[in-house]
Amino acid sequence: MDLLSERINSLPVSATLAMAAKARELKNQGIDIIGLSLGEPDFNTPEFIKEAAVQAVNDDWNSYSPVDGYADLKEAICEKFKRDNKLFYKPSQIVVSTGAKQSIANVCMVLLDPEDEVLLPAPYWVSYSAIATLAEAKSIIIPSTIETDFKISPDQLEQVITPKTKLIMFNSPNNPSGTIYSEEEYRALGKVLEKYPDIFILSDEIYEHINYGTPHFSFASIKTLYDRTITVNGVAKAFAMTGWRIGYIGAPEWVAKACNKIQGQITSGANCIAQRATIAAVSAPISSIKYMIDEFATRRKIMINLLSGIPGFKLNQPQGAFYVFPDISYYFGREIGGNKIENASDFALFLLEEAHVATVTGEAFGNDNCIRISYAASEQNIRIAVSRIEKALK
Ligand code: GLU
Repeated sequence: MDLLSERINSLPVSATLAMAAKARELKNQGIDIIGLSLGEPDFNTPEFIKEAAVQAVNDDWNSYSPVDGYADLKEAICEKFKRDNKLFYKPSQIVVSTGAKQSIANVCMVLLDPEDEVLLPAPYWVSYSAIATLAEAKSIIIPSTIETDFKISPDQLEQVITPKTKLIMFNSPNNPSGTIYSEEEYRALGKVLEKYPDIFILSDEIYEHINYGTPHFSFASIKTLYDRTITVNGVAKAFAMTGWRIGYIGAPEWVAKACNKIQGQITSGANCIAQRATIAAVSAPISSIKYMIDEFATRRKIMINLLSGIPGFKLNQPQGAFYVFPDISYYFGREIGGNKIENASDFALFLLEEAHVATVTGEAFGNDNCIRISYAASEQNIRIAVSRIEKALK
């Protein structure tokens, strides 16, 4: 008899975290695995942020915080939105959460009813569909291919809208493809959404600063959509703070209020020390993290150059984030060293077992032809990993 709820039984395991756990397990067994599965900067958190945290510990910031975050942190986030995104939010429109993942879950839980439809331009971040499922909504995938640089068109968007469409979850710079939509492309999608006033937009901008030159554009800066857009961001990626777990939203006040309510019943305010450290992070000039972005840019170049030399790897030029998402469908139906490759999951497993390189299957992101490879790793590990991949495929 299965004692677990249907809710949990129907929930897929997070493919990114599962692959990272598998790689860790093999490493513990003494196997020399190179982990390129997790999207996690390999830098230390900058000193000025660590100092703010130490100061907070010494100043005894140890009590519960307000559920939606400290007032001065929310002020600092409003300033950040103004400075970087020309978005004007009041503190009452901000909710700070335990990671951007919780921010997304909050929004889905407060906006979605059973049978509502959620549009996911693919490739989409792995947890969007799982969170929509938890909220008992239905994910509607809008496919794209490497030929369109993994972008969807306004026509494609319009074709899948139904009276049940409630939310579209949008991620640019995109995880896993690194694609960035231009302002013009955003506005063209926005024109479609303007016609459907009952659709909300969740704009996940967590990779905003991991950008190699395309100007970042925020959906909420389209005036006609501001009132139904929820902007999600956080400090994990840009400030090498993945484990600190701080994400936040800027949203219509009534949505923020509802998120505050649900968070109050589930987790309360986010960690108090991490919140104090986040004030230092979001208030710092972007120049303070430029060294990390420059390093990612170098690694991106190396990764793309090396992978382009492998037959059967079709690549786009990712403009942001720290992933490449090659189309490897060339290998489907082939047998390599006794391993039959039928799909992207077989391919990722083959790379793990034969090349000892951990990647993530594109299936988890709604694209069965690709795998995701993170280059948030040292240059040396990138070089070794790609040469191992090449060798295994020969
Ligand atoms: N967002 C990162 C990734 O896609 C971290 C892992 C996760 O939370 O899924 O790899």
